Amino acid sequence: MNVVTTTQVIDPATERVVTTVELADEAATDAAIDRAHRAQVAWRAVAPGDRARLLRRFAEAVDADLEHLARLEVTNSGHTIGNARWEAGNVRDLLHYAAGIPERLLGQQIPVADGVDITFHEPLGVVGVIVPWNFPMPIAGWGFAPALAAGNTVVLKPAELTPLTAIRLGELALEAGLPEGVFQVLPGKGSVVGQRFVTNPKVRKVVFTGSTEVGTQIMAGCARQVKRVTLELGGKSANVVFADADLEAAAASAPDGVFDNAGQDCCARSRILVQRSVFDRFLELLEPAVRKVRVGDPAEASTDMGPLISAAHRQRVADFLEPTTDIAFTGTCPEGPGFWYPPTVVLPAAGTERVLTEEVFGPVVAVIAFEDEAEAIRLANDTEFGLSGSIWTSDVGRALRVSRAVEAGNLSVNSHASVRYWTPFGGFKRSGLGRELGPDAALAFTETKNVFIATT
Ligand code: NAP
Ligand code: MG
Repeated sequence: MNVVTTTQVIDPATERVVTTVELADEAATDAAIDRAHRAQVAWRAVAPGDRARLLRRFAEAVDADLEHLARLEVTNSGHTIGNARWEAGNVRDLLHYAAGIPERLLGQQIPVADGVDITFHEPLGVVGVIVPWNFPMPIAGWGFAPALAAGNTVVLKPAELTPLTAIRLGELALEAGLPEGVFQVLPGKGSVVGQRFVTNPKVRKVVFTGSTEVGTQIMAGCARQVKRVTLELGGKSANVVFADADLEAAAASAPDGVFDNAGQDCCARSRILVQRSVFDRFLELLEPAVRKVRVGDPAEASTDMGPLISAAHRQRVADFLEPTTDIAFTGTCPEGPGFWYPPTVVLPAAGTERVLTEEVFGPVVAVIAFEDEAEAIRLANDTEFGLSGSIWTSDVGRALRVSRAVEAGNLSVNSHASVRYWTPFGGFKRSGLGRELGPDAALAFTETKNVFIATT
């Protein structure tokens, strides 16, 4: 690798330097893309059963290394050990799921009178995957697993802040027997490596997860080459609690719905909408649930919430709270080294406060009252985003009516679960473009080709 610069990886729980990582420059990026381009010719020709076997071996290598990967993530990203194990397990499970794809990427045979008409799902070629720092392992896997299964090769750019688990996944792929160049991990800056994915014509698709601002630039850049793009961007999701809900369960789980991963989650339910008749009661129940959140050493199994990713990000989160913001109550967090921030519940007075309209990406939640179902739907949709959300009610009709009316890609009823690797995931409106995961994930990494063979 032609190294121009390096970056220090910091443990966000201790502020200590963990290691130094080399960053690729533009020439190294082009070289990796060239390798991926050459490797793809052979990779797409690997028999489906053999491609499946290699992906299964990759999954087994991740499983054998699971505890190591999880510990790396705790140190690099401050994720709680429980979450980090789930994240590494998610990559393993995704690879097993993807291993079922090569033999099931079925085309069609379409009736014609004068011959045979068939469709093929052809791989795109080289895919560039750009990953943010909030979920380094799963978000990488959501891109690379189906892309590889469909016969593409992948160059993965982790976020500069969190490259360690991605580097390890690259090593595991090679150890599992994936041919050289099929899956490469290239730490580097977004403005250098990521930007080259957009401009280098040998990259046929960019999968980007991150801020709406950068996602917009990537889409505009890709448009020049009509390059395929999938975008998973921000969110401002609503957790809608109706008076007929199991209030105890809704309040007890609300902290999980927004403070998981210290709120650094695009699916965070950062607006809790509560029907006015139960508003005070809900807040009474929410307060002890928030105070119970254990913030501290992410390596401890009993910890619920770790630190934020960086000092700069902590400042960004703090800046969302204006002097006039009404803070209802907060949880606690450690003092001293570490980028700590307490779980914070605010009661915004006006709909214009930034904490109500923008993605905070930290442990801050706004609680807002609504009168009736129509107002709940209006408030839930009163955002430029549309990624996820929850609906708490005991009325199945209402659950379905509201689910259909909320403009978001991933809704859960009486639950905050958003992500299962076998169900589709993605956003409405400015939360993104395209879908990841689920039964159709691999199709997003193919072109449909129609071939007609004359028989007359
Ligand atoms: P970001 O700037 O969008 O970064 C996400 C990824 O894109 C990183 O790998 C980054 O690389 C890369 N990147 C940055 N500029 C690029 C460019 N011009 N071309 C190609 N790639 C580029 O996000 P962030 O700065 O880390 O976070 C800012 C805010 O975005 C967060 O506070 C949050 O609101 C939102 N966000 C949302 C999600 C989500 O899951 N929806 C994830 C992360 C962030 P480097 O970081 O290495 O430069
Ligand atoms: Mg950025």
